[in-house]
Amino acid sequence: MRIDLHTHSNRSDGTTSPAELVRHSLEFGIDVLAITDHDTTEGWVEAAETAATEGLELVRGLEISCKLAGHGVHLLAYLPDPTYEPLAEELERVLDGRNSRLPATLDKLRDLGIDIDAKDVRSCAGAAVAMGRPHVADALVSLGVVKDRTEAFDRYLGPQGPAYVNRYAADLFEMIATVTLAGGVSVIAHPWASRHNHDALDPPGLARLKDAGLVGVEVDHEDHDTKTRARLRAVATDLDLVVTGSSDYHGDGKVGHEVGCNLTDPGAYEHLLALAGRAAAASGRATPTVLVS
Ligand code: AMP
Ligand code: ZN
Ligand code: FE
Ligand code: FE
Repeated sequence: MRIDLHTHSNRSDGTTSPAELVRHSLEFGIDVLAITDHDTTEGWVEAAETAATEGLELVRGLEISCKLAGHGVHLLAYLPDPTYEPLAEELERVLDGRNSRLPATLDKLRDLGIDIDAKDVRSCAGAAVAMGRPHVADALVSLGVVKDRTEAFDRYLGPQGPAYVNRYAADLFEMIATVTLAGGVSVIAHPWASRHNHDALDPPGLARLKDAGLVGVEVDHEDHDTKTRARLRAVATDLDLVVTGSSDYHGDGKVGHEVGCNLTDPGAYEHLLALAGRAAAASGRATPTVLVS
């Protein structure tokens, strides 16, 4: 059983539609796939319909932009009820933050002599609901300023880059509680990736997050080297956190993250589903189904 629990479609910064994402995953022998776009559930219906037709088990999720101690943390939320008001409202705030950052980013690029219109970025973003730096990167590529997204991040858009602009993110502790109340479960995405500062995600920090309702950590991810994976796996085992593994596939938007390049153990997946079922029962939200009916 091949289980990949972290992938993006073009509703955020992936380059394939939700339907293409599902079909692509089947070609790579995936049995269970989570769609986890940044801050939006827009891709769920299309992905679920295709998954039901094609015979793939789809897990509805999202990767929520959060902050802890001033640093960005990505939170994978699986099977929450997206109509739960506090969750919907907070996601709206995050998406507003994405949209309002764009003019500021373009101003900074203009100061560097690179003239891009917001309309150009929107057209690069296509079907995306969650606008992000990767779409600005695509506009830079179309202008011929850089050759790919990676160069755009390295030269302009990364946290140390001259066109970097901060944006609103949800409070991590509050978001974990909100996801639980929405009947879902929370897993920290790539917690020890080197480009994220993980001081606040040290073992005591993870223990505090577990007390707040966190159920798992993504251990097997390309941004973690072998040693990091081993250390994080040991910490997760110690804290009784579910260990997941995923590709963080973005289509052509991110190299080295092909679907299925990291996988989640079937036992860990079953455990996640059981915890999600428990959260749904406790919150009284409609129990989220894995397969669309
Ligand atoms: P944003 O959502 O605007 O904060 O941009 C962050 C997104 O950019 C994440 O989804 C990353 O996957 C993507 N990203 C970060 N660094 C790079 C890079 N060097 N090349 C391509 N994509 C990147
Ligand atoms: Zn992304
Ligand atoms: Fe991420
Ligand atoms: Fe991601």
